[in-house]
Amino acid sequence: MEKKLYIVRCGEVALKGMNKPYFERILLERVIKAISCFDDAEAKWIDGLMFVRVPASVPEDDVIAKCVRVFGVASVSPAVEAPKDIDEIGRLAAEMMQQIIDEEGVHTFKVKGKRADKSFAIESPEIGRIVGAIILKKCKVLSVNVHDPDVTVTVDVRREGAYIFRDKIKGFGGLPLGTNGKGLILMSGGIDSPVAAFMMAKRGMSIEAVHFHSYPYTSPRAQKKVEELVKVLAGYMGTVRMHVINLLPIQEQIVQHCPEDETTLLVRRFMMRIAEQIALKNNDMMLITGEDLGQVASQTAEALVVTDSVVTMPVMRPLIAMDKVDIMDKAREIGTYDISIQPYEDCCTVFLPKHPVTKPKLARIEQSESALDVKALVDAAVASEEIIDIRP
Ligand code: ATP
Ligand code: MG
Repeated sequence: MEKKLYIVRCGEVALKGMNKPYFERILLERVIKAISCFDDAEAKWIDGLMFVRVPASVPEDDVIAKCVRVFGVASVSPAVEAPKDIDEIGRLAAEMMQQIIDEEGVHTFKVKGKRADKSFAIESPEIGRIVGAIILKKCKVLSVNVHDPDVTVTVDVRREGAYIFRDKIKGFGGLPLGTNGKGLILMSGGIDSPVAAFMMAKRGMSIEAVHFHSYPYTSPRAQKKVEELVKVLAGYMGTVRMHVINLLPIQEQIVQHCPEDETTLLVRRFMMRIAEQIALKNNDMMLITGEDLGQVASQTAEALVVTDSVVTMPVMRPLIAMDKVDIMDKAREIGTYDISIQPYEDCCTVFLPKHPVTKPKLARIEQSESALDVKALVDAAVASEEIIDIRP
């Protein structure tokens, strides 16, 4: 069966020192898993590049879409393989250009020669010139433009063969999933938390999720929305386990016994406590939230201090210093934005105080909380968890 070649480049993995073989092994495993949906697909490392071969009948875009979603992949190029013979390289490059002309009607091009294999007699600039001349002869509509060409063709002559490619489709970079522990994302249905989860996973962290609802004040549809968001994330991370907890019993206690303007903050403190217990049970090393400094009352510096003080586990807030517009752009890029903006209620918006406290004092919050049996409430919430595994 004829196979098509894709060259996959890793970004930061290439910079690793002694640990590089470990990262390369995991990245290879991740790519192999991502392309396993195509029959007879294969991948292997050769001299710092990953060579992916997939039956030619599979559409190029499908293969690229799978590869760029693997964290650790910097870019992907569909490529043509050639023997290390400059005339044959030229012939195949011209064939490739002709196809591009037919499909896209391009007019200008340039050829970039690269010679990783120094035993190849022709030097890099000369490779570019010779192959460029062959293309010009065969494709009469084209002219060379070295500064702003419609198409750049790269010819990469390496130890084991020569490779001709055109585009480099960018991946997300980062590090292979599973090379940096496991974390628990507090996942709302909003814009921020899915982006926060994505960013930590992109640095190699495996992700589990916890979602709080206030059924029947929040609807089953609101939870479905969160499941849809996690499903998008699972497209990058594989199956994600989500712990689901009804926070309503706790919210009712808070509303009954504590000052109204502190409601949100007290709820957030319970969320953190419950999340920490779930994390401990599941060997998650850190909590992750989508908090962003100053975005809302519960995310002022003072509020974050008060929220943080109930847990000892590190809390990662990868969005903390980002502007909302940039978070929204990221959400669009990863494909969660359109789901996030669907108007379903979140448990945080149930019992929302009219004037939430923005500069809370820890001592006062602790005083308010002393009206509640915190441990019993947390234990009951943890015990009531429901678990859903969300597949890509
Ligand atoms: P998001 O867009 O992620 O909902 P937000 O700006 O609406 O964030 P808040 O509602 O204050 O902010 O929530 C701050 C963080 O608390 C969220 O990013 C998320 O990590 C966590 N969180 C909020 N609501 C929930 C929920 N219902 N279940 C789990 N975590 C939640
Ligand atoms: Mg929210």
